[in-house]
Amino acid sequence: MEVSREKLARYPFTSEAAEYIKARGLFLSDFEKPEFQVVVERAEERIREALEKGVVSYRGDVVADVEILSFPLALALVNSIQDNFLKHRYALAESERARRILANEEPRVVLEVARDALGWKARFVGSKLMYDYALDLGSYLEVASVFHHERWKLVNRPVKDGYVYLTSREFTRLIAEGIKGIIEDEIEASPRGRLPPKLGEVADRIRRLLSEKRPASEVTEVVKGRVVVEAFPPCIKSFYQALLKGEHLPHVARFAITSFLLNIGVEVEEVVKLFTRIPDANERITRYQVEHIAGLRGSKTKYTPPKCETLKTHGLCVEGGRFCGRVKHPLTYYRRALRRFGRVGEREKPELSEEPIQEVL
Ligand code: SF4
Repeated sequence: MEVSREKLARYPFTSEAAEYIKARGLFLSDFEKPEFQVVVERAEERIREALEKGVVSYRGDVVADVEILSFPLALALVNSIQDNFLKHRYALAESERARRILANEEPRVVLEVARDALGWKARFVGSKLMYDYALDLGSYLEVASVFHHERWKLVNRPVKDGYVYLTSREFTRLIAEGIKGIIEDEIEASPRGRLPPKLGEVADRIRRLLSEKRPASEVTEVVKGRVVVEAFPPCIKSFYQALLKGEHLPHVARFAITSFLLNIGVEVEEVVKLFTRIPDANERITRYQVEHIAGLRGSKTKYTPPKCETLKTHGLCVEGGRFCGRVKHPLTYYRRALRRFGRVGEREKPELSEEPIQEVL
């Protein structure tokens, strides 16, 4: 069955769209030709929208081919810039575009996208119970593992005969997450190398915009120079870098970095700001959780980060701690490293009264 170009324009990341694009036999140099100017403009617009709005628009008003071809061209432009923040941001903005379109599609189309793009086994369950779709357990576990909210945990989901039941909104959210992964892979696989002159100019404009839109890459900017990122222990540094890229972290890692930052003097507000870089973060819930760890709510206990032993048990220690000497606690590493950086005494030594990890983040 021939797929309409309108459908390919809506879902340009599917294998059908890839085949259609491949059949056109285009090279990057072809986009220098005047007839492709409109495609180049749309590709640049896609990336701009990703950086400025966090979502790529669906331009139903443009010729379907422009919408289809501008997608792989945008991927190639993003890949040529070789910037992880841009890659992640672009993939996320395209997946959000797909999520919004899917939200208005008939179940048949939603299932086709889940099957064709992601290889999922799913079915529409209609008005049964309060759910709309059932997704096979394996696919669910794979994609939902990045979400940390209680409601995504398998114990909180109805499961029957190897299928997990989901509302329409939840199902499209999962599809969007799967699509994000596909687009990140497609960016990596797209052609890279010296761009032809006109595309090089587009890439330069994107680089300039990127430098304006990129989040502060050092916590010293976020926390007004009170902390020294270079002195963070490897585990905390890796959590911190993941947050800067807007990536999800496991629960224990989120607890560890939150309590670590609060204990070295970072303000609640600044920690919240760091967490709200995660695209689907809920600021209100994040603030509540950070305030809880800071001892401003609930039991009023101010928590310290887990010991190295605990982080090792959870597989969060970096290379078995071989860069850390014999420290037993991430805060000890930081204090020692601060001495090496000549910043000792800048702030009081934190108390190490480790509390059990609480299910607060
Ligand atoms: S040894 Fe401790 S401080 Fe160092 S990376 Fe492992 S958990 Fe972190």
